[in-house]
Amino acid sequence: MALANEEGFPVVPRGAGTATTGAPLAAKGGLVLSLLRLNRILEINTEDLVAVVEPGVFNGIFKSEVEKRGLFYPPDPASYEFSTLGGNVATCAGGPKGLKYGVTKDYVLGLEVVLAGGEVIFCGRRTMKGVVGYDLVHLFCGSEGTLGIITKIILKLLPKPKASATLAAYFQSVEKAAQGFLELIKEGLLPATAELLDEVTLEAIKGFLNSALPSSTGALVLFEFDGGLKQVEEDLWAGREVLKDFALKIEAAQEATLREKLWKARRQVSPALKKLYPAKVADDVVLPRRLVPRFLKETKKLAQSYKITVACFGHLGDGNIHVNILFDPQITPYDKVENLRAEILGKVLNFAGTISGEHGIGLTKKGYLPQELSPALLSLQKSLKKVFDPKGILNPGKVFP
Ligand SMILES: Cc1cc2nc3c(=O)[nH]c(=O)nc-3n(C[C@H](O)[C@H](O)[C@H](O)COP(=O)(O)OP(=O)(O)OC[C@H]3O[C@@H](n4cnc5c(N)ncnc54)[C@H](O)[C@@H]3O)c2cc1C
Repeated sequence: MALANEEGFPVVPRGAGTATTGAPLAAKGGLVLSLLRLNRILEINTEDLVAVVEPGVFNGIFKSEVEKRGLFYPPDPASYEFSTLGGNVATCAGGPKGLKYGVTKDYVLGLEVVLAGGEVIFCGRRTMKGVVGYDLVHLFCGSEGTLGIITKIILKLLPKPKASATLAAYFQSVEKAAQGFLELIKEGLLPATAELLDEVTLEAIKGFLNSALPSSTGALVLFEFDGGLKQVEEDLWAGREVLKDFALKIEAAQEATLREKLWKARRQVSPALKKLYPAKVADDVVLPRRLVPRFLKETKKLAQSYKITVACFGHLGDGNIHVNILFDPQITPYDKVENLRAEILGKVLNFAGTISGEHGIGLTKKGYLPQELSPALLSLQKSLKKVFDPKGILNPGKVFP
């Protein structure tokens, strides 16, 4: 970094390259710095409930090492088997368990970071609490490699829940599914996950499911309950009671292989959708929970008016809906797709939502940034970038339009 700073060439940090926004691409040339070989788990402390890792460790490998010691690292992007912890921190990755457990930033206690000029800093701490100085840890979380290079991460861990079970609930429509979930919350139940798959998504992954879909199924939601054994059984029963007024069919999966089969199907969604159409534009918008049913209904209607297929799936639990516009560029011109996208993102902002809940901005969403951030906030954020990276050498061309 000292050399890059002296010579003024761009440096693009890269984990596993799974970002969906073009964030780890060398858009302005320069050097792509792979962090994949910084891949040691340096410590897993079962008393402090803290781990120290290098950024190139894959989330899935870390999870299983932690679980061997009776502990739990909740952040679970669908890419967890093939994305790195460094990439997860730099994008603040989320996942199904965000509903109950939060996202990556909620588990990052401290970071070692190489700054644009080559200086190495440590920010944060390895204690559970601490308010000394500004909170730079959370500024680096989600900064997409534009502020510094993360070389060490201190993570918070939890005790592993004793039991988990999945409820697969089939609904006639996405709105019905979203209404069922809201009722569950009103009844005081907090599942670890509420993952939504709409009719387009189900068509793409139906071969991976445990059983045939009931006729007229328009949506499936995977609810996972975890905790003590007795608690999980009570929650399963209570969940069924609430959902039966909304669902066509409800199946419980308590046995590990059955549950894993359902979750594997969920993780197949992105690759399976890619097989349906030659191209897709993927957004990961977030809505206030109460507005999710209305958003889903209006988005489907909008897609119909454009005669374009839109798949909606993802983290219903925290309102983070993945809206995928599927198309064949030979038939549907890209301008038309971008117009539909602009209307959907406009709707999200009108509903007091946000245009990205976990994938970040990268290259593909930077044009929309000024619609969400006020001019004063945008200018403050650009000034921060200048403080950290005065020559603009860290991942240039990303985030800001
Ligand atoms: C099939 C599939 C499913 C996905 N599901 C989810 C999901 O459920 N939730 C979710 O949040 N995301 C999801 N993603 C997106 C992606 O996997 C995540 O954003 C992930 O966190 C990226 O990790 P990575 O190691 O691949 O990082 P990369 O893609 O290599 O990099 C991502 C960004 O982080 C920066 N970066 C990487 N390492 C460092 C470092 N050490 N220091 C500083 N900056 C760094 C890069 O410059 C880039 O800006 C999915 C992607 C795919 C392909």
